[in-house]
Amino acid sequence: MRIGRTLPPAAAPIYKYDILKGFEGLIRGQAELDDFRLEIKEYFQVRHCFLLSSGKAALSIILQALKQISPDRDAVIIPAFTCYSVPSAIVRAGLKVRLCDVNPETLDFNFIELRKITKTKNKLLAVVCPHLFGLPADIAKVSGILADPRIAVIEDAAQAMGGVFNNRQLGTLGDIGFFSLGRGKAFSTVNGGIIITNSKEIAEKIETGIHEKAGRSVPSNVKLMAYALALSVLTNPSLFWLPKLMPRLKLGETIYDAEFPVNQFSPFQAGLARNWRKRITVFQTHRKQNALYWRKVLKRFPWLQPIPIINELMEETWPLLRFPVLVQNSSLKKFLLEISEKYGLGIMITYPGSIDTIEELELEYKGESFPGAQKCVDCLVTFPVHGFVSPNDRQRIIRCLDNLQDLHMRGH
Ligand SMILES: *Cc1c(COP(=O)(O)O)cnc(C)c1O
Repeated sequence: MRIGRTLPPAAAPIYKYDILKGFEGLIRGQAELDDFRLEIKEYFQVRHCFLLSSGKAALSIILQALKQISPDRDAVIIPAFTCYSVPSAIVRAGLKVRLCDVNPETLDFNFIELRKITKTKNKLLAVVCPHLFGLPADIAKVSGILADPRIAVIEDAAQAMGGVFNNRQLGTLGDIGFFSLGRGKAFSTVNGGIIITNSKEIAEKIETGIHEKAGRSVPSNVKLMAYALALSVLTNPSLFWLPKLMPRLKLGETIYDAEFPVNQFSPFQAGLARNWRKRITVFQTHRKQNALYWRKVLKRFPWLQPIPIINELMEETWPLLRFPVLVQNSSLKKFLLEISEKYGLGIMITYPGSIDTIEELELEYKGESFPGAQKCVDCLVTFPVHGFVSPNDRQRIIRCLDNLQDLHMRGH
């Protein structure tokens, strides 16, 4: 167990000042929520915006709305390698999870497979396309493959709020999009989910769905405040080793749970979000700088293959949340993770298994295989890019990589 400077894999700090604004929000109540929604609508140039207790709550509400529009459809396609919250939300909405393999070199769908699945599976309701780690997925390609306009393209921009692709905001490229404001996302209000869409039909269904949901109770608001305070202190690398010592917190674990609560967003959280545009811009500056740094220096290590992060056509760099890298093989990956754990380097696995290996779902995918997703499970790690990564941290990481490379060369 490490006691000492420890980098989190991702970080969106909450400051004491934000918490103060949270209290102001709590006092203003509904007006604070209305202001936040209006700001989102203006920023993303969308007609409708809804706020919820988490990203997965947002996704399950979207799916329930779509189900009402097309009651004869029940299948939702997702990548076989993504966050476990995604299948959780689909099952919670009473729908079926259909998996499509991914391309480990882009982390996007394997489009040959996607074409096949959309041809053979009927009763398709939607496709969920994630921008993993902030890396833009090819939404236009998915829309092109789906011949049937009744199949909705849901943009999972949980990790990509504030990202831009070909001059368009991520989250606005599909029929409907959602963001997460959880810990370690683009910016955080402890937890939270945002839905945006221009579709009047979907928005009307969501509106009625949301009215039935409970607001935050007083105890749940108090809990949020305690969490916000804890995060404002413990996300810092000088203290991050502390929560890591407490396994009950399940830090960084992704869990499958189809019975999570769906509640409204709290005015306290809307207050916490008060200067979100400025915060995202500042965070993005750090993330871009660090991502470009890793892109440049990792070229020295032939056993590390960064996922491409630059849109060569537009010369834009994406503000990644974490910098994804394929390690040459799973034993090298294991070494790298051990070193990272020992020295607190913030290099981390992404998801512990592909979706077809989740115990509760396993039986559904007997006889199917997802080699691309498996490759990600075996070989993908991420390097930290957040603002806490100092020049000294970068040097520490490079030194460890050099040592590992020496060992590797000598055949260990
Ligand atoms: C975090 C995340 C979600 C879910 O968001 P929560 O707010 O944690 O429920 C969904 N999809 C992806 C890709 C995510 O990273």
